[in-house]
Amino acid sequence: MSVAATEPHIARRGLLFIISSPSGAGKTTLARRLLAADSGIEMSVSVTTRAPRPGEQDGVDYHFVDRDRFETMKSRGELLEWARVFDNYYGTPRQPVEAAIAAGKDVLFDIDWQGAQQLSEKLKGDVVLVFVLPPSGNVLEDRLKSRAQDTAEIVARRMAAASAEISHWAEYDYVIVNTEIEKSAAAVQSILVAERLKRDRLLGLSDFVRDMQAVL
Ligand code: 5GP
Repeated sequence: MSVAATEPHIARRGLLFIISSPSGAGKTTLARRLLAADSGIEMSVSVTTRAPRPGEQDGVDYHFVDRDRFETMKSRGELLEWARVFDNYYGTPRQPVEAAIAAGKDVLFDIDWQGAQQLSEKLKGDVVLVFVLPPSGNVLEDRLKSRAQDTAEIVARRMAAASAEISHWAEYDYVIVNTEIEKSAAAVQSILVAERLKRDRLLGLSDFVRDMQAVL
């Protein structure tokens, strides 16, 4: 994995910042808040075979592809990870992530536990895993029911999927109970700041300290 600047003069490894949660726990809002607050991290835009929802933009929210295109990308090794979620396929394009890391940027992922597991197996040490829980089961149920675009059957499936996603909380480095969005957004930013300062990521630190000691 390549090197990025933390302080202008200290080289460091870029990191892959993964946020997972059940649908409706506030992960998308937290991801947007982090991107707006921190210019050093950029979003990984996934490919998906699912249809765009109203308001979603191709190339911004997802790259919307058909199943053939998805399979081609998979077989060519163009996906860093992929998973089936509900009846659709989702995957992380490899090239933009590698380019961003090489350019000294951290990358933010809104992916499920399957993707989180694959990325942490492949890129252990460069991956930070954050799980977002809703304040309670009842709150999540209310939110999932109030999503007007979904039918009762889809809501029921989402509840089952939420329970399945939540069962993976213990595989994550950090868990945020999203009771207040302001506090949760601050917590997410703090995690990123702290992770950037991890000694193992600061590849240029020994040179920096040696130069410092040379003048003492
Ligand atoms: P939605 O269809 O609601 O946008 O996303 C459904 C689920 O798929 C969410 O949990 C989301 O985090 C996950 N997801 C989105 N993109 C990817 C991806 O590239 N890889 C994996 N593994 N999961 C993804």
